Amino acid sequence: MNAIPVPAGDEPIPISLVAHQAFCPRRAWLEVAGERTDTVQVAAGVTDHGGTDDAGTSRAARLRGVDVRSDRLGISGRCDTLEVGEGGALTVVEYKATPVRRKAEVTRPMRAQLALQGMALAEMGHRIAGHTVYFTQHRTRVDVSLSAEDLADTEALVAETRKTISSDTAPSPLEDDPRCTRCSHAAVCLPDERSLATVRRRIMAPNPDGQVLHLATPGSRRSLPPG
Ligand code: SF4
Repeated sequence: MNAIPVPAGDEPIPISLVAHQAFCPRRAWLEVAGERTDTVQVAAGVTDHGGTDDAGTSRAARLRGVDVRSDRLGISGRCDTLEVGEGGALTVVEYKATPVRRKAEVTRPMRAQLALQGMALAEMGHRIAGHTVYFTQHRTRVDVSLSAEDLADTEALVAETRKTISSDTAPSPLEDDPRCTRCSHAAVCLPDERSLATVRRRIMAPNPDGQVLHLATPGSRRSLPPG
């Protein structure tokens, strides 16, 4: 894998790409390489975002689909929803379609995404009242308090993201890491296709409607036909 379309030096990095970097640098690289995936989780995310980032549904107290940019950090993105509070202070609300079988937990990528949106809005002259994640499948709202360490961590992530996507080669896959079992890019990343070693984590089928095939003969192998 090489020849990726690298953003020009001063071209802003998408905030979503920094969130990918926070999850796994290889995923950020694959995303820039155009390796998109079509998983149930991604489809749920798109569906659950319906209307939450549609600027046409904005109201005075609730702005939708607001584009943001920070020239200082070199990032740009779009906020799902901004709640307008007293004196015009904004609460940044991100919608996440975390499956109900997992906890409604604010992860490092989510914190980074909220932090960058807030910092960009502040640079654009807005006052920030808070940050929130709304878990659509849990119907749960979680307010997020961002510390100075979170902001510093996020700024470092932006620099790391630029370094990742400037590389001609993809970072190595994680090894036996639980993140791979819930990664939207596992089908193109193929984290288990590496030098022979015992894989200790559970392998998840990317298509939950598919059938599990058990190979009962010792030493037998099976592969998918090309295409
Ligand atoms: S499958 Fe694992 S190694 Fe590959 S991009 Fe996802 S988290 Fe990273």
